Amino acid sequence: MEQSTVEGLFEAFAEFFPGATEIGSYVGGRLIPGTGDEIQIYDPASGEKSVSYRDGGAACAQQACVAAQEAQKKWWGMTHAARGRILYAVAAKVREHNEPLARLEAISTGKPIRDSRREAEMVAEMFEFYAGWADKFYGHVIPVPTTHLNYTRREPYGTILHVAPWNIPMLSFGWQVAPTIAVGNAVLLKPSELTPFTSLAIAMLAERAGVPVGLINVLAGYGHTTAQAAIADHAVKKVVFVGSPATGVRIAEAAAKRVIPCILELGGKSANIVFDDANLDQAAAGAQVAVFSGAGQSCTAGSRLLVHRKVYDEVVGKVADGARKLRVGHPLENTTEIGPINNRNQFEHIKRMIARGVEEGAHLAAGTTKFGDEGYFVPPTLFTGVSNDMDIARTEVFGPVIAAIPFETEEEAIAIANDNEFGLAGAVWTNDVARAHRVAAQVDAGTFWINSYRSIHVGSPFGGYKNSGYGRTSGIEALYEYTQTKSVWVQTAASAVTPFGRA
Ligand code: NAD
Repeated sequence: MEQSTVEGLFEAFAEFFPGATEIGSYVGGRLIPGTGDEIQIYDPASGEKSVSYRDGGAACAQQACVAAQEAQKKWWGMTHAARGRILYAVAAKVREHNEPLARLEAISTGKPIRDSRREAEMVAEMFEFYAGWADKFYGHVIPVPTTHLNYTRREPYGTILHVAPWNIPMLSFGWQVAPTIAVGNAVLLKPSELTPFTSLAIAMLAERAGVPVGLINVLAGYGHTTAQAAIADHAVKKVVFVGSPATGVRIAEAAAKRVIPCILELGGKSANIVFDDANLDQAAAGAQVAVFSGAGQSCTAGSRLLVHRKVYDEVVGKVADGARKLRVGHPLENTTEIGPINNRNQFEHIKRMIARGVEEGAHLAAGTTKFGDEGYFVPPTLFTGVSNDMDIARTEVFGPVIAAIPFETEEEAIAIANDNEFGLAGAVWTNDVARAHRVAAQVDAGTFWINSYRSIHVGSPFGGYKNSGYGRTSGIEALYEYTQTKSVWVQTAASAVTPFGRA
């Protein structure tokens, strides 16, 4: 088994930046060291100190704003088709570097290598999707009741800031950056201070593929310093945030002070509802995918498993059996299905939530309350006998922990699903077509699956209801989010009459 030691992470990073002696931000086509506080990274698989680097800080954010504004002018001055061709080239570059990107992601996040490979491929697919849209997204001609020609233009904001979390850094790059630049914007991306590595690498690859230098800048550093400095800069015209609800509020407050818009993609506590007429083997397998993939560090995790009382024991039994069979291991092992949790804070939060579930009287049907001291590993965990008012059913765990809640009727299942502050995702398992659509229509969620869980695609809009946030960052909807509409009026009459006479 390979070890992700300090050298392991730095070597994986240096494959993209040969000769680099330290980690910094990628600004204006260069890796520039930060000047702020030291940020220490720990290896998720061993808990040992890994690399460290300095927070980018305000100076770095300001430098990035200057580079972005210059590059954006060049980018918007190109034809739409030319921008599309470059996005296709970015996709090809990412695909060509699938293995080193996957390795860098696995070492730095703890994500199993096979998932990391798949995610690198998804990034390539995201650039391809938006490459195709680059010259197919345009305005309208509106039949106004005057002698005017009235048409709309879709124009870029200019520079858009993206602030991203640590659970899906590589995926976030594709998801956020591809649509943003496809419609002519420049980007400042502030990944989590814990996981800036693959974002730095892909920004550099994008330039090699033809993206103008300075169009994509990656700020390595803290949110309260570096991201806030970027939000305060007049160059930034919109902020897209993916992360925790508390930080989302801080971001929206800072954006409001500058009267710039925001998109917020926040947490979740999604309900995965299993009716007694469902295919129970598939539902039980789906319940595991819904939460244990990515060790549960997923905003869409179906962490509340609602099961009809008639089949409750059977379904939770199948889920518990499956949970015990999943292979928990080192992220670089090809057979690993569940890697370690990304960081100590999150690991401690998950352990506290498991202890809290036991304290509240839920039954630990799979998993443990005792954890090793090497690495941040949490085995797949299932609580049964949960009621929806328990903390384990209300608080986002963001770990491989299912809270299984029984219900009696369809109305009760919908009521439990909606009795939560969040509204990110949800699912229903049933063979009754009418019921499936009734439930899909009534659950408060931005994404809903029927007899499935967790499928996402960049072509489909994604975002939250309620405290899970607002705005949509994928699909065609993202292109509306990343552009502003200008309405242009052209007088076409030879001699038009105005209230002041002939014009
Ligand atoms: P977080 O809110 O702590 O951090 C997210 C980002 O915000 C990081 O880049 C961080 O540096 C930055 N940040 C922190 N404080 C800031 C401040 N004061 N000002 C500006 N920026 C600041 O979240 P996290 O712990 O990295 O990620 C986990 C959370 O993200 C979970 O709640 C999860 O549900 C959510 N998430 C949501 C989605 C989604 O699409 N809805 C996707 C992934 C994760």
